[in-house]
Amino acid sequence: MTESETSLTNDFIRDIIDEDLSIGKNDGKVATRFPPEPNGYIHIGHAKSVCLNFGIAKQYQGTCNLRLDDTDPLGESMEYVESIIRDVRWLGFDWGNRLYYASDYFEKLYSFAVELIKKGDAYVCSLSADEIREYRGTFTEPGKDSPFRNRPIEENLNMFARMRQGEFADGAHVLRAKIDMASPNIVMRDPIIYRIKREPHYRTGNKWVIYPMYDFAHCLSDALEGITHSICTLEFENNRPLYDWFVERLIEGNRPRQIEFARLNLSYTVLSKRRLIELVQKNLVQGWDDPRMPTVTGMRRRGYTPAAIRNFCVAIGVAKNDNLIDVSLLEHCVREDLNENAPRAMCVLRPLKVLIDNYPETQTEDFEIANHPQKPEMGSRKVPFSRVLYIERDDFMEDPPKKYHRLGTGREVRLRGAYIIKFKKMVKDEKTGEVTQLHCTYDEQTRNAPPADGRKVQGVIHWVSAAHCAPAEVRLYDRLFSSENPGAEEEFINFLNKDSLEVLTGCFAEASLKDAQPLSKYQFERLGYFCVDEKDSKADKLVFNRVVALRDSWAKVAR
Ligand code: ATP
Ligand code: MG
Repeated sequence: MTESETSLTNDFIRDIIDEDLSIGKNDGKVATRFPPEPNGYIHIGHAKSVCLNFGIAKQYQGTCNLRLDDTDPLGESMEYVESIIRDVRWLGFDWGNRLYYASDYFEKLYSFAVELIKKGDAYVCSLSADEIREYRGTFTEPGKDSPFRNRPIEENLNMFARMRQGEFADGAHVLRAKIDMASPNIVMRDPIIYRIKREPHYRTGNKWVIYPMYDFAHCLSDALEGITHSICTLEFENNRPLYDWFVERLIEGNRPRQIEFARLNLSYTVLSKRRLIELVQKNLVQGWDDPRMPTVTGMRRRGYTPAAIRNFCVAIGVAKNDNLIDVSLLEHCVREDLNENAPRAMCVLRPLKVLIDNYPETQTEDFEIANHPQKPEMGSRKVPFSRVLYIERDDFMEDPPKKYHRLGTGREVRLRGAYIIKFKKMVKDEKTGEVTQLHCTYDEQTRNAPPADGRKVQGVIHWVSAAHCAPAEVRLYDRLFSSENPGAEEEFINFLNKDSLEVLTGCFAEASLKDAQPLSKYQFERLGYFCVDEKDSKADKLVFNRVVALRDSWAKVAR
């Protein structure tokens, strides 16, 4: 990871940290955490939070923990934990031995709750869920005290212990913090801190039938880990007073400080686990790692690189107000990285057969072609040439306009890295009139050299040798949604882009790609960036995903 990736300019969060450090807070330490709930795969929004938390830790020589915030048994699983670990690591971050689970703190959190009861700061409330809602009041009206608010401490302790023992049904009682039912901030109107939920937990099994609420568990988990700056998204702004309320009552010494930033919203994308789960469960995509998904695993399979994602996260910065980032900025970062680092290769997506009439039938020769035009250190490869070739169907026109610098009746064109060839005749399908084959001649003298007679041949096209190339399937992706802000639509599913996937079979890749390893990325000359599909690509049938086109085709549409 380069310096520029972690510390471009200061943002308001780093300003706060600088100030805390300057007044000697937290003994000069900076400790952050990335706290996902293992109820789905992480997406590009989470990547922003990962980059921010780990980036800050690195910049201030502090630490960043990976904590699974697994306090709600419904929907959490080991599959998700494993995916999160893999994805954060793949993004390029390391938490050393600081992998934690909020569920490991259940006993500790229980005793914190007992401590609150003993201080008279919490009570067991036996109103139903509906009644609790009713008593809570509204934005304009204060709430009403629960009739159980003044339950004696001994009775609260006894009831809470019995809740834990499993004596009561789900919803029969809850433990609530005793704060202020008239607070202008609804979050502070005696929030629930424990509820009964007879659900097995993927880690603690049937040990618990009561589970702590997020607002209670999160801040105390932060405190238990010695987190100094608890960075979260804006929707928790109203919860900050509650965060502080718990921590001030229960934690001595250094206390974590919550700082909110704007979550990432990306155009033509949904970034909510609930919606992503819906796409997966309704089979509207082919799983969490579908290359059209904004999940880290989907982006990896598509061919995005960790560096491109990190650069994007630096480029968007951290703001205090919600906004919608143009997805083309992410694509731009991917393109920039691959332009630098992806070797070049040739692949014909929609082949047209070309016979070089004057090239000896049994001859083959290898052209040595550079892997990167600006980077000799990336080496070169051998590209075999022979009598029968494939070129791109749309690199030939029977009656081309003047400015068409490709092959046409009477025209010449250079085959990238090889000879100049000249059109002789075409063969057409009798029924459809479609051109099925071209006959050309090659100019032997133009092997890596301009024509001796000084004639100009402007066009350069890509090609493969029919006898040597590898059959391939190429998957072209477009945006998954046709609406700029699908999350804001009433039914986001109705805005899926029907043309988000086009599968091209019968493509031909140059011979060197037969050894391409899963997830290797290439620039296919003139076509874009492509990645070997890690699931479906086989030695005898290569499968490539288009990572991103060479240029932003949507920019034209928008203008
Ligand atoms: P969602 O509700 O959108 O599905 P989440 O907040 O429930 O996401 P968590 O697992 O709780 O997902 O998130 C882990 C961390 O990632 C939190 O600190 C959260 O604030 C942060 N995060 C989640 N979504 C985004 C986003 N779009 N942009 C930036 N940070 C995010
Ligand atoms: Mg959340």
